[in-house]
Amino acid sequence: VARRGGIRSAVFDPGHGNRIEQRRRLDLALRRALTDGQFFLLFQPQVDLASGTMVGVEALVRWQHPEFGLVSPAEFVPLAEETGLIVGLGDWVLREACRQAAGWDWQGRLSVNVSAAQFRLGDVVGSVRAALESTGFPASRLDLEITETLFVDNDAGIVAALEQLQALGARIALDDFGTGYSSLSYLARLPIDKIKIDQSFVRGLPDPQREVIVETVLLMARRLGKLVIAEGVETDEQRRYLATVGCPIGQGYLFARPSAPEAIGLRSRQVDAA
Ligand code: C2E
Ligand code: CA
Ligand code: CA
Ligand code: CA
Repeated sequence: VARRGGIRSAVFDPGHGNRIEQRRRLDLALRRALTDGQFFLLFQPQVDLASGTMVGVEALVRWQHPEFGLVSPAEFVPLAEETGLIVGLGDWVLREACRQAAGWDWQGRLSVNVSAAQFRLGDVVGSVRAALESTGFPASRLDLEITETLFVDNDAGIVAALEQLQALGARIALDDFGTGYSSLSYLARLPIDKIKIDQSFVRGLPDPQREVIVETVLLMARRLGKLVIAEGVETDEQRRYLATVGCPIGQGYLFARPSAPEAIGLRSRQVDAA
């Protein structure tokens, strides 16, 4: 991919040292980005498919580098996970997302991505608690998006952490559902409130095979008492199909790309002068 090559060749300049040095340079640039305030958040609507109401937003991090321009999280999140910077970055994302959302004149849900590395290297429960306390955002409106990779090690500590997050009042959403290796067995027994059907299933709709998967996930989720959201909704035909088969919520370019809050109607509460 050209964009990927862009940041790679810019930071990992092949003329400047070996891979280890190049990684160190990008790691350094990421650390500086955090202290220099080069990260910012965009928000993508999650829409009630029956009414069209924006019931939630997902916070998605961006890196505005003074030289390389806008860098996608697909490029820097994996490295931040490897180097451990994801812990500090993840703390910033949580706090910043809650801070902004606490100020909006809007009562919907806020979704924040938390990667497996944050659980492994950091204290996610402590970070979430601190972000909620310092911003006043209510836990009852917070969703934490995790992925199936969190469960590969079958770690009891992970389940305990998720249960603590639920005890705070937050909900756990399983992101990219259907792309992992062992989706079904653990859905019933793990502390997961919500399933996000991966965009690879939605983007290909209409398609008989994908429809079987989407409808099976919906049926299973309903039986297990889990909420469902479909990602990657790009066309009105997809939206109508999903609504028809009873998928309650959708997210995708059809409704809006990840956006600045003002662009999707999220404005700061009027502060009463009196
Ligand atoms: P994700 O959590 O699965 O986020 C959804 C990605 O799909 C976003 O890419 C979003 O812009 C994109 N998307 C949404 N709707 C559509 C659509 O209709 N069509 C298509 N083609 N794409 C759509 P983005 O923002 O580039 O983020 C990529 C990934 O980076 C995220 O995937 C997530 O895994 C990670 N990421 C983003 N922000 C954070 C963060 O704050 N913390 C962590 N740990 N990871 C993050
Ligand atoms: Ca996500
Ligand atoms: Ca996803
Ligand atoms: Ca993903």
